[in-house]
Amino acid sequence: MSDRHRLSLGPIATPDRLLLGPGPSNAHPTVLQALSRTPIGHLDPLYVALMGEVQELLRYVWQTDNRLTLPMSGTGSAAMEATLANMVEPGDAVLVAVKGYFGLRLQDMAGRYRADVHTIQKPWGEAFSLEEIEAGLKQYRPKILAMVHAETSTGVCQPMQGIGDLCRQYDCLLLLDTVTSLGAVPLYLDEWKVDLAYSCSQKGLSCPPGLGPFSMGLRAEEKLANRQSKVPNWYLDVSLLNQYWGSDRVYHHTAPVNMNFGMREALRLIAEEGLENVWARHRSNAERLWTGLERLGLEPHVPLELRLPTLTTVRIPDGVDGKAFSLHLLNKHGIEVGGGLGALAGKVWRIGLMGYNSRAENVDLLLNLLEEELPAFKPASPAVAAVAA
Ligand SMILES: *Cc1c(COP(=O)(O)O)cnc(C)c1O
Repeated sequence: MSDRHRLSLGPIATPDRLLLGPGPSNAHPTVLQALSRTPIGHLDPLYVALMGEVQELLRYVWQTDNRLTLPMSGTGSAAMEATLANMVEPGDAVLVAVKGYFGLRLQDMAGRYRADVHTIQKPWGEAFSLEEIEAGLKQYRPKILAMVHAETSTGVCQPMQGIGDLCRQYDCLLLLDTVTSLGAVPLYLDEWKVDLAYSCSQKGLSCPPGLGPFSMGLRAEEKLANRQSKVPNWYLDVSLLNQYWGSDRVYHHTAPVNMNFGMREALRLIAEEGLENVWARHRSNAERLWTGLERLGLEPHVPLELRLPTLTTVRIPDGVDGKAFSLHLLNKHGIEVGGGLGALAGKVWRIGLMGYNSRAENVDLLLNLLEEELPAFKPASPAVAAVAA
């Protein structure tokens, strides 16, 4: 017996932060209460009934009738990986439309499942036109087109009209990342003819991180059924998971039951508010932020027509140390905002208004701090310096 690693600690005491970055966002208090309930067995009939409620409400928030709709045990990236692991067979051509960091992650994952990966690219802050998508489909004839609806690294919302029809025309499946749009931004899986989609629990849905909603349509189910090789990932194999989530209830892995309690409550709250009202709330709070930023002379990175209500990229003014200011917000006021990734590193802040956090009081609080405290982080202008001297 050794006490070498035996820390002597007090009980956990994390501060209550306001998370206005790219995620996680704050969980709804009702969701946090649900998480603290005593677990029940993952095959208990009461739990099985709860699984059905979660699946049905996920169909509602995604606007889909897909039978195979369920939360993966893992974060959004696990659900992302589930879409590719189940669909890709070695050598399948996969086209990834890359316009930010999460497009690059799709490209990386598809390659690990030994797809023949091709990309079309746009600068970070732009979206694809239908013509650009069609040119890619024509050139590469992929089995899957993978793209991101709400690109959290850039703050761009990809217009989706017509893309699903193009994919059908070119006999290709449409795989869509809806991590930063589900439960927050208008999203119609069936109407848009999306074949595979995934999301996460900690952004628009107001849960802590830990579950990754996943949905698969009939065309994708058919590709899964016709696989020549086993799904190369046991944990994420939908044909195995379906024996637990479907009517057979065969044990696969122990479901994270408390996370699913939280998910059930989060989805119930969205259904109670009404999806259209939820979308409108995100839109109006984002517009409140955009108007306020403009008043302060701060410039959004994305043009209005492509701007994402859940995540705004704002250009850091010349001469300001963006990281120093966000650290100030965190340490002095307990507010988190994000920095830039990849091509936008050091150039933008990322402000998230997602789920429970999409509220006017949060917008006003942040705008006030930008107004009152950002000037101290700006280099003194020559005129001001002269007066001071
Ligand atoms: C957050 C995010 C992910 C990854 O989800 P995790 O829950 O962090 O694993 C994937 N795609 C997009 C667009 C995201 O914003």
